[in-house]
Amino acid sequence: MTQRLVVIGGDATGMSAASQARRRRDAGDLEIIAFERGHHTSYSACGIPYWVAGDVDDPNALVARTAEEHRARDIDLRLGTEAVEIDLDGRRVRTRGQDGGAEAWTGFDHLVIATGAVPVRPPIPGIDADGVHGVQTLDDGEALMAGIDRDVVHDAVVVGGGYIGVEMAEAMLRHGLRVTLLERDEQPMATLDPDMGHLVREAMEGMGIRVETGSAVREVLTGGDGRVRAVATDKDEYPAQMVVLGLGVRPETTLAREAGLPLGARGGLLTDLSMRVRGTEGIWAGGDCVEVLNLVSGALQHIALGTHANKHGRIIGTNIGGGYATFPGVVGTAVSKVCDVEIARSGLKESQARAAGLRYVTAVIESTSRAGYFPGAAPMTVKIIAEHSTGRLLGLQIVGREGAAKRVDIGAVALTAGMTVGQMTALDLGYAPPFSPVWDPVLVAASKAAEKVRTTCG
Ligand SMILES: Cc1cc2nc3c(=O)[nH]c(=O)nc-3n(C[C@H](O)[C@H](O)[C@H](O)COP(=O)(O)OP(=O)(O)OC[C@H]3O[C@@H](n4cnc5c(N)ncnc54)[C@H](O)[C@@H]3O)c2cc1C
Repeated sequence: MTQRLVVIGGDATGMSAASQARRRRDAGDLEIIAFERGHHTSYSACGIPYWVAGDVDDPNALVARTAEEHRARDIDLRLGTEAVEIDLDGRRVRTRGQDGGAEAWTGFDHLVIATGAVPVRPPIPGIDADGVHGVQTLDDGEALMAGIDRDVVHDAVVVGGGYIGVEMAEAMLRHGLRVTLLERDEQPMATLDPDMGHLVREAMEGMGIRVETGSAVREVLTGGDGRVRAVATDKDEYPAQMVVLGLGVRPETTLAREAGLPLGARGGLLTDLSMRVRGTEGIWAGGDCVEVLNLVSGALQHIALGTHANKHGRIIGTNIGGGYATFPGVVGTAVSKVCDVEIARSGLKESQARAAGLRYVTAVIESTSRAGYFPGAAPMTVKIIAEHSTGRLLGLQIVGREGAAKRVDIGAVALTAGMTVGQMTALDLGYAPPFSPVWDPVLVAASKAAEKVRTTCG
């Protein structure tokens, strides 16, 4: 008998799951219906800052697979349709068409919850004023681009100094705007330790971006026309005709919570290794709406990244398709950039290592992206955190120019393999002058950390 798979959320996780299930089971065996409340499907939100910056000139280029392409593969994708209730006992989902359209119940044998995350929007006066933009969806990107074209904008304030905030600061700068970045923490890029975040701050200031840290946004001030005119913090006021919000996200688990599905301390759905929601049969979840295991700290975390979302979707689709796949967890790898400055991290930062009850040593080194004598060699700072006594690699952070960020993948592999910094020094990495010094910067940092472990942890 034909089974039915219902997917809630038609982007990275949801459509990866649907596509993978379809690859393994044909339409006579598995009917697939996907509900997406927005107007777009299978697009790269990751590309939005680069489209706004002008690196990508057509937003359609961000769409990996169109609605028509999904439908041609027998996936019944219904855009503009919101799931409003999950009835676990009845194994059905209630949906509502756009703008209060008709409601309907759809039964399922398998359900994939891929509802993503919602941006944090602090309840401060003026936050919904004209000229205040999020960048979570393609629709948000379109509204922001229209605002730049339509309105007279000289000053942009970016609220939040995480990776989306710094990427959007670059995008605003490249539109010729005066840019201020406001961050509540001590430094931008709080996923790094403050000493590494400081390097990002210095680089941004060198580009002409004003970076104000250590103060919380209190109010978005508007003019008589209701449009934004400034942002007030507890320290000062910053003129702005455009405000971009990059304050992070939280898992979108409203439906799951109302249905009584298990949520973790960070509000994300809890799954087993196969991405099945714990304690259920045939209910799966992945992407930004779940919590994942950090393999280094052993703790559950909410990390909203497309790289995980796509893997989760594929694993879910494989399992629904009759195969077997699992997601062991993450080591917390992320890369980003602001103009020509590349930023990367993997594993734990110092405060996370402390929170996990780990003792550690750190090593910070300066090196270059290529052999020092080779044209284009650019400086890079590498920081390593290694466990006290054992020397196990706990974390790697890199700030530098071209060629810096993707070196963090060495750390991601070493962390996954549970390597010590001593073992890392023997890694047979590629070398030629245009690509690295004879001692790769990551190996230099590992060597310094290994020396510290030897000399200070006896
Ligand atoms: C500006 C920006 C830059 C980013 N850059 C990177 C990057 O460089 N690298 C990286 O790894 N990650 C990046 N990310 C994160 C990445 O885009 C997300 O992790 C990824 O899209 C998550 O996929 P998802 O399918 O879990 O959720 P989403 O992509 O958010 O999709 C969830 C979908 O569910 C829909 N939905 C929610 N509730 C319902 C409902 N009740 N009914 C119907 N539909 C519903 C939503 O409309 C949405 O389309 C970036 C994100 C943003 C916003």
